Amino acid sequence: MINLKTKHEIDLMARAGQLLASVLPPLAAACEPGTRTIELDEIADKLIRAGGATPGFLGYHGFPRSICVSINDEAVHGIPGNRKIASGDLVSLDLGLVLEGFWADVGITVGVGNVTPEARRLIKVTEEALYAGIAKAQPGGWLGDVSSAIQQHVEAAGFSVIRQFVGHGIGRQMHEDPQVPNFGQPGTPPRLKPGMTLAIEPMVNAGSYEVFMKPDGWTICTADGSLSAYFEHTVAITDAGPLILTALPSPNGHGPSPRGGEVGA
Ligand code: MG
Repeated sequence: MINLKTKHEIDLMARAGQLLASVLPPLAAACEPGTRTIELDEIADKLIRAGGATPGFLGYHGFPRSICVSINDEAVHGIPGNRKIASGDLVSLDLGLVLEGFWADVGITVGVGNVTPEARRLIKVTEEALYAGIAKAQPGGWLGDVSSAIQQHVEAAGFSVIRQFVGHGIGRQMHEDPQVPNFGQPGTPPRLKPGMTLAIEPMVNAGSYEVFMKPDGWTICTADGSLSAYFEHTVAITDAGPLILTALPSPNGHGPSPRGGEVGA
């Protein structure tokens, strides 16, 4: 069942989203050669709590840390630890929080230091795919329009979208209906309605879309060892179109200007 949110509930989710977005710039800035991934976790945990929120991922289905950090061939759900970031790494950050009973969920991939042109292109295409999907999150449209826009943008660039993990509805729970796949056909249900709140999150591999889980029970890696990138926003569908609840200026310097400034205005 899809929970439609009231205007007041979307305002609360926007508050959660803006706090979460504010954590990204300092987190991205800390993605430097020599930084241990556990240090990123500590920065995010501290900032989320300082904002009066709870780090949502900590303890979620037993996840041991407050954010996910996934490097290079790690696609999603990497556990922060003692690994040091190196120049050339693609660092994917996924974080969520709960504020006043509502979730926000966001993610970016940061290219650190000397990143290859192909890796840079993977990041760019993945972020563009997120915005291509968001642009289709229109009242009266179809969820398949969102999925298809993401898939088409990614595949036109010669990359692939992961099938085994998908975006999701979000609200009082992190994972609500509907699932939001990054692949599909335009015009397929469910119908998009004002009040829907979706975490849209293209997970894109430079090679094949096949992935596997590491023995740690969390980290998802590309099966062929190719690089993976990931971007995510929490988005509300309103009468006026999609409203990005977790918007911030892109640390990668591309993508459309964020609409988050409109929230609460
Ligand atoms: Mg998510």
